[in-house]
Amino acid sequence: MSNDTAVEITGLVKRYGRRTAVDGLDLTVRKGSVTSVLGPNGAGKTTTVESCEGYRRPDAGTVRVLGLDPIADGPALRPRVGVMLQNGGVYPGVRAMEMLRHVARLHAHPLDPEALGERLGLDSCGRTPYRRLSGGQQQRLALALALVGRPELVFLDEPTAGLDPGGRHLTRDLIRELRRDGVTVVLTTHLIDEAEELSDRVAIIDGGRVIAEGSPEELCRGGSDSLRFSGRPGLDLKALTDALPEHCEAAEPVPGGYRITGRITPQVLATVTAWCAQHGVLADRITTRRHSLEDVFLDLTGRELRP
Ligand code: ATP
Repeated sequence: MSNDTAVEITGLVKRYGRRTAVDGLDLTVRKGSVTSVLGPNGAGKTTTVESCEGYRRPDAGTVRVLGLDPIADGPALRPRVGVMLQNGGVYPGVRAMEMLRHVARLHAHPLDPEALGERLGLDSCGRTPYRRLSGGQQQRLALALALVGRPELVFLDEPTAGLDPGGRHLTRDLIRELRRDGVTVVLTTHLIDEAEELSDRVAIIDGGRVIAEGSPEELCRGGSDSLRFSGRPGLDLKALTDALPEHCEAAEPVPGGYRITGRITPQVLATVTAWCAQHGVLADRITTRRHSLEDVFLDLTGRELRP
């Protein structure tokens, strides 16, 4: 395992009874990166992340976190790794800020719990017992608990699930700050736009394996963008295609509705509007659409990603 690797998973297999949740999964996470793990429900994301956190013992394969074994070296890893669990892991009667101060005291160089609590909007509910916090407040506390010890590496399991828009914005800002500070972030999410916006690398998991991995740009490369417009039906598609760069193709999927696929550059847009002008066509409702991570995900898994 090289020095700039934070997590290295090789051939991970995990079974629950007869069900194979993770089926020979390989994944490397570079130090200082934000890596998103995306996948449909039941793909094996949580099991994989829990194996890295030392909560699951692999049936086969190896997991190394900061060069250590998450189970055998748990005590050495715990001060260096932050974990945001989906279901808190917090005693139900404890007050939010009490819990945060308590966890801060367990670390050698914690963040100031009061400042972190305020940043995450926990000051207003600091005296509320955990079981009475709203779902969003519990999420915010779970994030604060993962970060208060200034970890080198954090695992965030759907950190924005159940948060209001303000909470989502704040959480995404915090993730960007962690990255700036050199912290490695492993994020599981169902939100493709979140993964695309925040991640250096994205691993798409399906059926317990990584089926695609790369930067969002790499994963989207090679797919087709599209430009659509409306005009009178029956335009000469061959003439339009001839006017366009070689990689582009024009089609009329519905009468009067046109679609150009290929790499849509500003020149392609200019060519289409100029061609329409020359042929007396008023191109209406022109839209361009970039090949997104969502398209890649759909192409690979045949499924939409829904929480
Ligand atoms: P989701 O997006 O729904 O959270 P996931 O990708 O995190 O899903 P996992 O929770 O890792 O997927 O589950 C992978 C498979 O293993 C699923 O089929 C699930 O039903 C099964 N599984 C997970 N945990 C257990 C368990 N404790 N006992 C039995 N089966 C389990």
